[in-house]
Amino acid sequence: MGYEMVELGGAARAGELRREARDLAEAVGQVRLVVVVATDDESTAWYVRSITRAAEKVGIDCTTVKLPPDTKPAAIREELLALSADKTVHGVILQTPLPPAAKAADLAGAIAPEKDVDGANPLSLGRLAAGLPAFAPATAEAVVSLLDAHGVALAGRTVAVVGRSTVVGKPLAHLLLDRDATVTVCHSRTADLAAATRTADIVVAAAGRPGLIRAEHLAPGAVVVDVGTNATEDGGLTGDVDAESVAGRAAALSPVPGGVGPVTTALLLRHTALAAQRAAAGGQ
Ligand code: NAP
Repeated sequence: MGYEMVELGGAARAGELRREARDLAEAVGQVRLVVVVATDDESTAWYVRSITRAAEKVGIDCTTVKLPPDTKPAAIREELLALSADKTVHGVILQTPLPPAAKAADLAGAIAPEKDVDGANPLSLGRLAAGLPAFAPATAEAVVSLLDAHGVALAGRTVAVVGRSTVVGKPLAHLLLDRDATVTVCHSRTADLAAATRTADIVVAAAGRPGLIRAEHLAPGAVVVDVGTNATEDGGLTGDVDAESVAGRAAALSPVPGGVGPVTTALLLRHTALAAQRAAAGGQ
């Protein structure tokens, strides 16, 4: 006897967020997002093209500043400072991967917090931790947004987050604490991952390890959000959760692709439109 597993799809929530972004962008008039790319990586180029297309559909102008993959960190910083000072730009994203000498968290400090639509500036993470308004990294916020969209309660529930990166695991832990969840954050040095995740009402997998989470990692009836986007040999995407293994044990699972991903992109657009609205209202 197992659970009939519900799919936590992201399309409907993403659609709502895109509509909000479009309405905001229409009201502001001119909204501009700039993505800084310093890699020749093909999957990054594909991801940036998908953001550009999604932005255009909601009336946000999205341009890419393409730098060579051997660009020095100082030159990337200069670019970010110039975009931060440019009044025609409302949102700035520093795309990873970066050249080996460049550290994302360090460079992202050059993105003005009011334009930091993917919450990459360490100031944004600090403000989140302090319970102050800031743009959260879109992927972390997408997890909470997806759970809300499917009516999954957070207050008083236990959540195990697998992954402690600055872009997903850590900001997500703060967002969940803010929603009165009890949070355990796991990582590669967690001695017994299954013991840590098996007691949780909700498990969020954000490790970048295909198939890491299996039935033995879950309490019966757990809700599982799969943040992992791992490239497969046939050019597709697979998550961090072994969907076959957890079927019958999990009550709900977000698909990859089609779960957290579309909500993440839509949130980036909504953040950008919000940043433009605030700038127009004199916040810049
Ligand atoms: P990351 O920086 O590589 O961090 C991975 C985290 O997982 C680290 O904290 C690592 O622990 C932990 N980890 C690795 N192996 C583990 C294991 N066997 N057991 C427990 N924890 C383990 O990756 P990220 O940038 O956070 O991304 C995580 C995943 O989300 C990736 O698949 C990425 O592609 C995906 N992602 C998706 C979206 C989206 O929009 N859907 C956006 C961003 C990222 P240590 O800290 O100890 O190394």
